[in-house]
Amino acid sequence: MTNYVFNFDSGDATQADLLGGKGANLAEMTRLGLPVPPGFTITTDACRYFLAEGAVPSELEEQVRQQVDALEKAIGRRFGDSADPLLVSVRSGAKVSMPGMMDTVLNVGLNDETVHGLAATFNDEAFAADTYRRLLTMFGQTVLGLDAALFSGPLSIARTKAGVDNDGELPASALWDLVNDYKDVIYQQTGSPFPQNPLDQLWMAIEAVFTSWNGERAKVYRKREGIPDDLGTAVNIVGMVFGNRGSDSGTGVAFTRDPSSGEPGVWGDYLANAQGEDVVAGIRNVSPLADLEHINPTAYRQLLEHMELLEQHYRDVCDIEFTIEQGKLWMLQTRIGKRTPAAAFRVAIDLVDEGLISADEALTRVSGEQLTRLMFPAFDRANAPEPIASGVAAAPGAAVGQAIFDPQRAAEKAEAGEDVILIRDETNPDDLPGMIGAVGILTARGGKTSHAAVVARGLGKTCVCGADSLEVLDDHAKGPNGSEIHEGDIVSIDGTSGEIWADAVAVTSSPVEKYFKGELGADADALTRAVDRLMTYADERSRMEVWANADTGADAALARRFGAVGIGLCRTEHMFLGDRRELVEKLILAEPEQRGGVLEQLKELQVGDFQEILEAMDELPVVIRLLDPPLHEFLPSFVDLSVENAVNPTEANAELLRTARKLHEHNPMLGLRGVRLGIVLEGLYTMQIQAVAEAAARLSERGLQPKPEIMIPLVGDHRELEIMKDKANEVLSDFNVEIPVGTMIEVPRAALTADRIAPHADFFSFGTNDLTQMTWGFSRDDVEGSFFSEYLEQGVFETSPFATLDTDGVGSLVSTAVSLGRKANSDMHIGVCGEHGGDPASIQFFNQTGLDYVSCSPYRAPVARLASGQAAVKQKD
Ligand code: PEP
Ligand code: MG
Repeated sequence: MTNYVFNFDSGDATQADLLGGKGANLAEMTRLGLPVPPGFTITTDACRYFLAEGAVPSELEEQVRQQVDALEKAIGRRFGDSADPLLVSVRSGAKVSMPGMMDTVLNVGLNDETVHGLAATFNDEAFAADTYRRLLTMFGQTVLGLDAALFSGPLSIARTKAGVDNDGELPASALWDLVNDYKDVIYQQTGSPFPQNPLDQLWMAIEAVFTSWNGERAKVYRKREGIPDDLGTAVNIVGMVFGNRGSDSGTGVAFTRDPSSGEPGVWGDYLANAQGEDVVAGIRNVSPLADLEHINPTAYRQLLEHMELLEQHYRDVCDIEFTIEQGKLWMLQTRIGKRTPAAAFRVAIDLVDEGLISADEALTRVSGEQLTRLMFPAFDRANAPEPIASGVAAAPGAAVGQAIFDPQRAAEKAEAGEDVILIRDETNPDDLPGMIGAVGILTARGGKTSHAAVVARGLGKTCVCGADSLEVLDDHAKGPNGSEIHEGDIVSIDGTSGEIWADAVAVTSSPVEKYFKGELGADADALTRAVDRLMTYADERSRMEVWANADTGADAALARRFGAVGIGLCRTEHMFLGDRRELVEKLILAEPEQRGGVLEQLKELQVGDFQEILEAMDELPVVIRLLDPPLHEFLPSFVDLSVENAVNPTEANAELLRTARKLHEHNPMLGLRGVRLGIVLEGLYTMQIQAVAEAAARLSERGLQPKPEIMIPLVGDHRELEIMKDKANEVLSDFNVEIPVGTMIEVPRAALTADRIAPHADFFSFGTNDLTQMTWGFSRDDVEGSFFSEYLEQGVFETSPFATLDTDGVGSLVSTAVSLGRKANSDMHIGVCGEHGGDPASIQFFNQTGLDYVSCSPYRAPVARLASGQAAVKQKD
């Protein structure tokens, strides 16, 4: 018989697959002796069974009943006991945390009778009524699927009637009225009364939590975060402790370090006389956690001790939920804290310094995506106007966009490609599509741990929350001093400082980008120090080098500053555009015997181009690829030429049109390009090889050490390379220089016959853009915009194979070519220069496959360096 239920005494943190993150960590905290209320977890197995079969497994009922018995014994109260009832919370908890995405019901076990028992036991009518109206609200919304407004409406009327601002101040009579109103609402809306039997409530809540796994917002969140759909959620049933038992009670959330900057210290929010989600829902403005020191020094000290213990135990930042019931501290949840990219770098290095983790582990605690985000721009403060307001700096970044007050509209505008700042009084999980679309999120209520802040950090969006000087209405917001923001106005928000402008503020590069460019020293601040140390460590650990793709001296110099130790791809086609296009046109039109003059002129220009880039990369290798694209790309468009020829039918226009027609190809990507061009268009490649040799010779004369390499594109057969290699040798022998000549491997046939090509090649470089295009047989220029979204939606692929290497297909060609190539030519130098060279997941594969370097765009070089170091660490493990 499968065991679907585990007591908190019997699990541990390693069982997140089965118990969900929350359940596994509750068990772990119990094991550590922390004050966790008794409870048990229903496994994700049970959820998967329920989702597949539409009903819970038959043995579950008995297993839950036994656990309820045990819980009753542990707590000393009985479920449904009208004198002194046991109440429980029913909380979702998947393997990976999905904050606010699934359902939770608190205070299960209350009914018209037990509520009086609760009032008598605690000698507090208002508390009992408040607890019941909360159950009715949560049950109504999450289990019965009723609209939140049906509950929040009467609540706000009750506040107005009683003349109070906070729910906690409502008198018992008002709360009893609410209880009756809510029971009526439930009856009217569902046709059935609120279930009075506590066990019925429990089962309905359990099934609602299971069902919420496939709720719309949970699905959207999983897609965005790449969380598999088939994990399911566990359900935690926990004995209730009450934060709403008066001013010596309360509930809070805490981080063991600042989740925004990583700075050590006490961070979190506390709300007195409150329960459950009140803190994160941004319903009332919360106090900073540090205030708890004055409110309840003993509980505060204990909390700090528990936080310290948890951080030492988990060796990472922990995010904690706790409740204080009449002075006594209870730990309700812990998990590894979500953090901003800046905090991730800072914390990783601090934990190394504190001896909690090794440098190897620190490297795996940060990601390429986080590093990319750290290189995003920040506001140019020197030229910024006065901000109109400020709030809590909840998720860093500088976001500028149109103010939009409705999440649905925000999502639509974002879909249409517009930059949007979503402005809300507070956010709730239904706002998720708008939050995903927005570049920034601004709220008037809630602290660093509000829903808006937590989700924004997870999504990597800039967020300012709790800007309480703003009054947010349906389509505009009123700010201090008569300022207003209307739907569609441009606003700027700074998630690092919390400032808000009703204007577009200019942005400048980030400190991390400046550090990489050498404009700021590594010691500029705690963040640059952390980045510098982790990058240095990544470089030490990595086996594979990082080179860059650059076509100009300026780009090459930038790449070098970003840590690239070579140029893996200098595309020469850009050098044939602009005002040089005319020369190329002449070359294409000329009879073979007349090409010499034009080639000579082009050569002089190319020598200049190559000198520039070789000089910027002095002493480092520069792989220059000979011309690749089809010739027609250098002619005016066929349609334009036809029009021009009709309007102005000169002999020259007619000739141009004839040539364009001759060169026209239905599938130019599969046509006369790359080495095919080099073989057919006599003199073109020879000219380029001469220019490379000439540029190197001129620099050597100046005492520099240029290291050019020549790369032949689109080779599919060894004979193509042989022909070009002979040509190159002939040219190079005149210059008395040694320049390696290699080939791209970007046609599947080249990969499959790499052993025959290798003897003629000094190096291989995988052109994974073309290799992906040709292996899949889809056009890299067209398909991403046409059917890829459907393919992603239907799970044909998880990510675009142009972004992350398809290791099963294209990757298998890469490994085949590496092993065939090395068998034939054991010291063959091998790299990759397609877009995948800058993608961390692909880099890991290239490392495993034994490549010597990856080459990517200069801005990706830092990310690639990090990924290469991480790949080496992972491979060791
Ligand atoms: C490639 O095909 O991967 C490549 C680097 O060349 P290009 O993108 O210029 O075709
Ligand atoms: Mg290519």
